[in-house]
Amino acid sequence: MSFSGRGTTALDRLRDRYESEPHVCDACGYEDDDGSWDAVTSGARVVYRHDCPSCGNRTVRAFRLD
Ligand SMILES: [Zn+2]
Repeated sequence: MSFSGRGTTALDRLRDRYESEPHVCDACGYEDDDGSWDAVTSGARVVYRHDCPSCGNRTVRAFRLD
């Protein structure tokens, strides 16, 4: 997946960080070692989502890229 050919962007750095962060459920504390964040971007906003395989709770992290 490529957003641009302009090298490392704020979004790239954010993605690198989140791809290495453990996915711990906010609701039940389940740690999903094999899980991945689902990234959605719209303009200057990026939202990372992860659905807990244990309880189904959706963890959401939202950032502004400015
Ligand atoms: Zn959970």
